[in-house]
Amino acid sequence: MQAWRIGDVTVTKIIELEALGGFRFILPQATREAVRPMHWLYPHFMDEQGRLKASIHALVVQTPARRIVVDTCLGNDKQGRAVPHWNDLTSSFLADLAAAGFDRTTIDTVLCTHLHVDHVGWNTMLVDGGWVPAFPNARYLMGRVEFDYWRDQRAWTEQVTVFADSVRPVFDAGLVDLVGTDHRVCDEVTLEPTLGHTPGHVSVRIRSRGKEALISGDFLHHPCQMARPEWAAQVDYDARGSTQTRHAMFAALAGTPTLLIGTHFAGPTAGHVVREDDAYRLIPA
Ligand SMILES: [Zn+2]
Repeated sequence: MQAWRIGDVTVTKIIELEALGGFRFILPQATREAVRPMHWLYPHFMDEQGRLKASIHALVVQTPARRIVVDTCLGNDKQGRAVPHWNDLTSSFLADLAAAGFDRTTIDTVLCTHLHVDHVGWNTMLVDGGWVPAFPNARYLMGRVEFDYWRDQRAWTEQVTVFADSVRPVFDAGLVDLVGTDHRVCDEVTLEPTLGHTPGHVSVRIRSRGKEALISGDFLHHPCQMARPEWAAQVDYDARGSTQTRHAMFAALAGTPTLLIGTHFAGPTAGHVVREDDAYRLIPA
């Protein structure tokens, strides 16, 4: 199990799924030919053939006073997902969470960086044919802009189903707090707008005892985007906006001691951003 310490805060990674290759539907420009010359991606973030490695995981942020789950992956038993193997999952995610010391009933805060399918799944679980909150003692923090945008979708998309089975049930249970993109969660944890991927996308800033970390969310999906910040994800709502965000965030992080913890980074998952040539790279922590 991987965990990082930032002053008095611990961040623990709970893996739901890991993947090798199959990334073209997210980053169409990241062909094997294009990424193989980025030697620093090997071995943690790609294999010898240039197949990209990725992960879907939750990050548990334990502060002196709060126990926060950042992003809740895909969830079990979900239907109507566009990626075939994301349907009808039967992973041991909740048991793994409990084994790491975080029984689901002890979680006091769930924080969704945005409301895409792979960030809200374990908000709910299937009980007697209905979706119920998986974290019944938590407040679920969601961006107000983000929530309104997905609630108001009329044309059918995968995300309409996702909202219905993984967002609406926790809202109807009265567990959701709609917050601004710069919301302060507690002394050590603050949201930070990193727009473009979705209309209300946020990253999560952690500060404690002079140490600092940033949980990325999906303003980037893979470290190869540090070398090519203009590579937007296929699913980015605003590709120009997400590209501006990547340039601004990498410039601000580069050369600083801030630990970047990637929401979909495989292997070491966290590291430090440094300048390389006219772009950036990640030095795994
Ligand atoms: Zn994602």
